[in-house]
Order: sequence, then structure tokens, then C-alpha cells
Amino acid sequence: MLLQAPHISTPSGNAPLLADVIVPLALSGTFTYLVPPALAGEVRQGSRVLVSFGKKKLYTAIVLRLPGTTPPEGVELKPILEVIDADPIVTAEQLELWQWLSAYYMCTIGEVMKAAMPSSLKLESETMIEVCPDATATEPREAEIIKALSGVKAMRLADLVKQFAADRRPIHAPLRRLIDQGLVKVSESLRQREKMPTITYVALTAEGEKETNCKGKNRAALLAHLQKLKASGAPDAERAALVAELPSNGATIAALRKKGLIYTYDRPADVAADDSSTEGELPQLAEAQLRAFHEICDSWQRHNVCLLHGVTSSGKTEIYIRLIARTLAEGKSVLYLLPEIALTTQITSRLSRVFGKRMGLYHSKLSDTARASLWRRQLSPEACQLILGARSALFLPYHNLGLIIVDEEHETSFKQQDPAPRYHARDAAIVLAARSGAKVLLGTATPSVESYHNATTAGKYGLVCLKERYGGATLPDIIVEDVGELRRKKLMKTPFSPRLIDDTRAVLDGGGQAIFFINRRGYTPVMECHTCGWTPRCVACDVPLTHHRQTGRLVCHYCGATYALPAACPCCGEHDLRGKGQGTEKIEEEVSRCFPQARPARMDLDTTRAKTAHEKIIEAFKHLKTNLLIGTQMVTKGLDFDHVGVVGILDADALLNRPDFRAHERAFQMMSQVAGRAGRRGGSRGHVVLQTKQPSLPVVAQIVGGDYESMFAGQIAERREFLFPPFCRLIVVCLKHRYESACEKAAEAMATLLRPSLGTAVLGPDRPAVGRVQYQHIRRLVVKVISPHTPQGVKALLLHARTQLMESPEGRGVAVFFDVDPI
Ligand code: ADP
Ligand code: ZN
Ligand code: ZN
Repeated sequence: MLLQAPHISTPSGNAPLLADVIVPLALSGTFTYLVPPALAGEVRQGSRVLVSFGKKKLYTAIVLRLPGTTPPEGVELKPILEVIDADPIVTAEQLELWQWLSAYYMCTIGEVMKAAMPSSLKLESETMIEVCPDATATEPREAEIIKALSGVKAMRLADLVKQFAADRRPIHAPLRRLIDQGLVKVSESLRQREKMPTITYVALTAEGEKETNCKGKNRAALLAHLQKLKASGAPDAERAALVAELPSNGATIAALRKKGLIYTYDRPADVAADDSSTEGELPQLAEAQLRAFHEICDSWQRHNVCLLHGVTSSGKTEIYIRLIARTLAEGKSVLYLLPEIALTTQITSRLSRVFGKRMGLYHSKLSDTARASLWRRQLSPEACQLILGARSALFLPYHNLGLIIVDEEHETSFKQQDPAPRYHARDAAIVLAARSGAKVLLGTATPSVESYHNATTAGKYGLVCLKERYGGATLPDIIVEDVGELRRKKLMKTPFSPRLIDDTRAVLDGGGQAIFFINRRGYTPVMECHTCGWTPRCVACDVPLTHHRQTGRLVCHYCGATYALPAACPCCGEHDLRGKGQGTEKIEEEVSRCFPQARPARMDLDTTRAKTAHEKIIEAFKHLKTNLLIGTQMVTKGLDFDHVGVVGILDADALLNRPDFRAHERAFQMMSQVAGRAGRRGGSRGHVVLQTKQPSLPVVAQIVGGDYESMFAGQIAERREFLFPPFCRLIVVCLKHRYESACEKAAEAMATLLRPSLGTAVLGPDRPAVGRVQYQHIRRLVVKVISPHTPQGVKALLLHARTQLMESPEGRGVAVFFDVDPI
């Protein structure tokens, strides 16, 4: 464990009190400030304080240590300007996790803070704030702030502070109170502004429950109706339904609310549907599930972490629900991590049906205000005992954590790529659990090689297997279609093999559904001039552009830049630009041509940008409004539909041919997962058609046979032989520079600095497959951590080498960062 030892020093009698604080910046280390005597009682570990940094900037900093580090002689310290909250808003456990993340993932603690906290909790000079319409306040300072913000759309915090600078009275504490009351808010980006559709509910107040002689016919009728609902134990009524069904209208509701007889509240539409204050029944587990449940509990006697390897549709979620209920009953809280929350509306509603209001949701598609309010709630006595969230939910405050479930633990989206901290949420969850004395359950049908190794040979985790599907459904039948052969025989006239066409038509005609998986979005991934071979590429990145039919533009999938489709080839002037390969848009077009009975839907990054787009696509498919779902890897995850009779994997080779030592592992996972969407209900068996030019690859046979163990055995043997994880750790050193030759020189210099101590454990430098992104050239070194070196030792060497590089001429203008345990 790389946790820094807390700095302990006792200030001598009259020495000034110092505090070490974290500022949300990518600067290394913490910063020491003076605690003015007037604030001495209020500054505590985890408190938010206002500090000035650099020339003029103000930041909300978090107090990490008290007393702080004594600075060297002669260093002049600045004072803490204000204490923003009455109580600390970051707990000691959170600060420990921040420190661990920063040390393990080789980034600054300021970067961790930046990633960990919602924006409205870490106001900085550049934060834009705005006042809500109709906001009023009686406290003079608060009223002044409202006045200053009224009439402008939004204002930089720094500008607001400037306006109040003259009389030198604090504004942060009153501002914070306004933010807490929802009267002032942090402006959000356009994406966040898109409102989550919400449903308004109407409920009785305590007075409303008792009220019997209400004036006005409509009001009385509405009140009586609500009282009847309440008496029957029904959930709160939707406002829309009341207006539609009763002779009441908006004014009736407003009038009753004004009298304090009722209140209204909003909840996000997706959760609301299944949510009620009364909690649902726990599922009755099938025999195999019950056995797994007991084995998991049993394994926790010996290990902190248990891996549940359960085939697709074996009913893992129901087991999780039981384990959650058990943990909550012990008075402990639970964190349930999902790889991508937006894709898992289904799990959200299944859990909220059981746990109701005890569950909180936390992910990046929520507004910043919603995230900040859940954070505060977690610090209060009303904390949610169950948090369902994406990887950032790790950063919330927890009280008495008893269990962390990492669902689909093999998913690569648990690893954050950019910016720092480049952490793996599964691994960080295991650390968090160990520190909190909580247990961990990793669940998946296709474990990562690392986790399976830990659960078997390495003996670090417990292992529980569940080999049968729930309810007697059988695993789907996987048929391999040799696309190379079919092409030679001229039988591939469309992107679909004859077998896939037959099966799909039969399934659709019978009222069933199909899923087609192609891991490329857009229309055609590469354009080429048929005359001279010219390919349009992004000017900022070193990649070909993808043609998007819908927008009629060429798009760079790395930086998002778009370009008009050139009328003629700029190289030879001919007019014969053709697309190569197929993306989801093109497949959608081909589907309409091939399957007249199809009602297709497309799910990829382009169709799911809007906040609730996923939900809509999934709902429509679930209710058979659409019957053929075309998608990228989004369709491979966690979806549970009743009527999927056939799954087509259109281009397995794109997955199999990736230049990465994990390619076959990933291909196995993705294809087994998407195959697992078929035939999830007993009755007829599902089919999967896997189209590839390499039908004889061992991994293809392993997918067909559902033979995880063989895939694992093959992979682990290779990794042992060539020394890859889990037999060593990898750390990538990534260098970026505007100029290619400077980037190359810096990378060489870095390698030269490392080789004397690390020798052949330093691989590269190499140019990655995409060697330039957004005008920045990229070079990479890969360092293997092999004994006798320890990870800590190698990290220290790397950090030292970076400092040396930055001080040398080769280091000018280059950005160097590290990626620990890259995926
Ligand atoms: P997995 O996560 O293992 O792929 P799920 O948990 O989604 O599987 O379960 C598959 C389906 O079986 C779901 O629709 C679920 O509702 C149903 N199911 C599983 N276990 C039970 C149970 N004990 N009682 C009722 N339905 C169950
Ligand atoms: Zn040309
Ligand atoms: Zn680009």
C-alpha cells in the first residue's frame, strides 16, 4: 500500500497553526497555509476552505492535515481566507482513498480531488454561477449576492468576488448557503443542462391527512382522493394523472399546496416508474442461485473478495439483491458499481423496486446539482444505504460500508482513460473495501484473466460458479459462418451471411427479435478515392475520417472534428470517393433492404447522446415496438430481453485482429456477452451467428463452446511465457508534444534515463496506432515491473526520471504522464 504516512508534528506553544490543503489542480503535493486564530476552531480535516493561490486566483481547497507541515525558514505563508462549511465535507476515509489513488496511479492529489468532487462543491475562480429566477433572501449578505447576480445570465465567481472585494467581508459562506438552498447554482454545460425528464408527484402533508372540511368542490374532491390513496397504502399520485382524472387542475393543486395541505416533488422518470415508499418483495431464489448465495457468504469467511462466475442469465442480479438486503439488515451500507449506468436502466428499476428510497443513484449523466446533493446527503443521517453508480460513485462519502458489488467486473470502462486519475474502479473498490472492512463481490459471465487468476491459482479471491441459466433456459447455439469462404462462393451479397438472413427472417416472422452487433459507428469507417487511393484524414489527428450518412459529414472519432464531404478528390480531381467497411448506419440501411419485416433501431454513441436516449431505445425494444436492434458494444452489456431469438455478430475479425495482448480475451468477453442476450427465456433456444474469416482460431471454438476455462488456460500460458499481467505489472509512460521530432527526442531521453536501472524492462519508445491526436504527437514507453523491482521502486524511478527530463533541454514543451495498469 502506498499510502503516505500522515505527517505528525506538534506545534510548539506559540507557533502559528498551519494546515496542509489540497487545491483542485494538477500540481504535485499539498500546500501549507496559516490558520488565522479566529478560524482555529473551524478549520478541521476535510473542511472546505477558501485560499488564494498564485497571484490572484481563489480556490476552494480541502484541508488534508492539521497541523500542517512546517515550511523551511523564510517561506512566507498565506492565511486561509474563509472556512466555507460548518462541518467537513470530505471524510477521513475519503482523504485516505484520494492519497492512495494519487500514489498508486501516479497523479497529483489535486487531480484526484478534481475528479472526485462535483463542481458545485469545489468552486473556483472560473466557476460560472447564476441565480435562480425569483430567488429571495432576508440575510443582508445573501440578498446582496442575489442582487449582484440578477440581471446577468451567469457570472464568473472571480468577478463576483471582485464586486465584494471593497468591504472585505466574506462572501463564500453566504454564497454556499444560497447554493445549498438551490437559490444560486453553478452553471452547467449544455450537455448537463438537458433536463432529465421528471415526473411530478403529489403527496399529503401531515395536516392534509387530517383535513376534513376543505372549501371548494374541486379541492375537496382532490383532497379526498389523496386521502383514499394514502389509506390504501398506494404510492404517491402523479400530478399529471390527478389533473387528467379528476375535475382538478393546476390551480387546484397550487391552492392546496399554498394551504400546506399537500406538497409536490419531482423524481427522474426512469426510476419513478417503479419507485414507491413501500418496498418490494425479495425474490425467491432458485436452487442453484441459493447454493451460490451460501457459497459466496461462506467464501467471505476466508477472503475479502469473491468472484462470482455465473453464465449469462443465470440470475446474478437476484443474488446481488439478496446480498444487499442481508448487508442492509446488518445496518451496513452497500455500493453497487456498474460499468455504464446509462445502459443499465433495467438494473436501476429492478433494484429500486426492492429498495425504494433507500437507494441513491450516482453517475455522470446526472446534473452536477444532483450529484452534489447526494454527496451532502451521504454525510447526513439520512444517507442512502445503497448507492448504485458508475465508477465515480467510489468517491462518495460512505458510512459503515459493508459490501461493494462490482457488476460485469471484466468491463474495460471501469478504467478511466483521461484525464488523471487513470484509475480502475474495480481495483480501487477492492482497496476501499479493505480499508472500510467491507466485502467485495465481483460478478460476471466472462471474468477478466486477472481476476480469474486471482480467484484460482493465486488464491487471493474466493470463487463461486453458477453454470446454469435461470428458469431452465439453455445457452444459445452459436453457429460460425466463414465469411471468406462465402465470399469466394459469391454468397455474401450483403453484410449478412445466408444463415443469418434465414434465421433472422424466421425469428422476425415469428414475432421474435434480433440483435446485430458491429463495433463501428457511422456509415463507412474509411473513405477512399477509387482512382488514386487517397483517404481523407483528420488534420489534427492521425486517423482516417468516418463517413456519417445522417449528418452527411466526415467525422474524426478521436477529436470529434467534422468535415464536409469533398466533392472531388483533392489529390487527383476524380469524383469517385467510395466508402470501405461498414458502420452501424450502413448496417441499418442494409437491414431495411434485406428484412422488410424489420423495425430496426440503432444504439451507438451517435443515437444516445441525449440524456435519456438509451432508455427510450431499450424501452421500445423491450415492448416490441422495434424488433431488430443494431449496435456497437453498447448492446453487449447487461441487457435482459425476453424475445431475442437471434444475435448476429457481423464482424468478429475487427475484435480478433486487435494488436494487443488482450485481444482474444476481449473478443471472447464481448462476443460471449452479446451471444448471452439471446434465448434468455425458457422455450425455444436462441441462435447466434458469428461471422468471421478466421473460423479456425482457437478462441472462436472457445466462444462457440462457452469454454471460458480453455480461453483462460490459453491466455494465461501465453502471458506467463511472454511475461504480461498478471505475471508482471505494466506502467505506460506517455509523452505528448506539438512537434513530432521533439516528441521522439523526449521519449528517447526518457528511455535513456530509465535503462540504467530498469534495463530490458523498458519497452519502446513506440508510436501508438494513432500517433497524433488533436495536434499532439504521442510516443509511449511501456515499463514492466519485474522482480527484484517493486511497483513502489519503479514508480519512484519513473517520477525521478520525469523530473530530470523536464529539467533537460529535451523536456521543453513535452507533457509526460503515466498510466498504471493500462487496459
Ligand atoms: P444475469 O445477470 O446473470 O445475466 P439476470 O439477473 O439478468 O441474469 O437474470 C436473468 C433473468 O431471470 C431476469 O429477467 C430475472 O428477472 C430472471 N430471474 C433470475 N432469478 C430469478 C428469481 N430468483 N426469480 C425470478 N426471476 C428471476
Ligand atoms: Zn484521387
Ligand atoms: Zn481528429
